[in-house]
Amino acid sequence: MHPKRILAVDIGGSKLLTALASVAAGGHVSFSGRVRRELDRRFGKAEILDAAFRACDETLRAADGGFDAVGITIPGLADPETGTWIYAPFSGIRDFPVAEEFRRRYAKPVAAENDVNACAWAERLFGVCRGIDDFLWVTVSNGIGGGLVLGGKIFAGHFGCAAEFGHLKVVEGGALCGCGGRGCLEAEATGPAIARRYAQMTGKEGFSARDVALAARRGEADAREVYRKTGELLGKGAAAAANLLNPEAIVFGGGVAESFDLLLEGLREKFNSDIMTFANKNVRILKTKLGYEAGLFAAASLPYR
Ligand SMILES: [Zn+2]
Repeated sequence: MHPKRILAVDIGGSKLLTALASVAAGGHVSFSGRVRRELDRRFGKAEILDAAFRACDETLRAADGGFDAVGITIPGLADPETGTWIYAPFSGIRDFPVAEEFRRRYAKPVAAENDVNACAWAERLFGVCRGIDDFLWVTVSNGIGGGLVLGGKIFAGHFGCAAEFGHLKVVEGGALCGCGGRGCLEAEATGPAIARRYAQMTGKEGFSARDVALAARRGEADAREVYRKTGELLGKGAAAAANLLNPEAIVFGGGVAESFDLLLEGLREKFNSDIMTFANKNVRILKTKLGYEAGLFAAASLPYR
């Protein structure tokens, strides 16, 4: 890995993060000049670009120094070959040549990719998957996403939509999902699903997934059971993925994975009962090492593809 300074741009659904990443030859990354901006969900291409350029200029002033390349993560479907943001379901953005716009402004190489695929790549370069060629990266927060690395490369699928882990069906006739299906992991094992399951079990309304995690850590049996059940559903999905892909590891990130310890017992138990053991007995179930700045690591990893 060549040491580089990378302008990292993490465009989310509701926020924008920029920082200058200094990547050392050994893969250690340090960030400076962090800037965070809220993004209005109604923003179109021009507003997003304007906010991103302003944030980047602020980062470059604060970080005081040159850079070699730009890495941009986007929420939604991307074409990494051209750096085009093809589609964002929440804002309706289509065919946005975001890399070209950055190239024109900064005259540097620019790489852009879907945020979850980029997280998987960052985990391989900077995180727990260094040296691992075949793994699935899963983010669990308000939604569930998946990124797949096979043979040491991101596997995007025919239409760029491979590894939609969140839409594996885990509950027959279960909760309605945003995709129109029922019983998807995204409807059954996210933060909102944890809150809903807890409310159904206890009759206590208004508790977030984080509140339930705190209660579980205090030893409350219902809260522990909610996390255990959620872990089982993730384990069911992980086993289906392992049986199909035979990966070396499955890595969990995202806000809900901060409570990975609470999910792990149910997850492992269901995973072990559902896998074809002979083929998958050594699959490693891991927690991300990227932490809450995963998006910035993801952006910083893209010029190394
Ligand atoms: Zn779905």
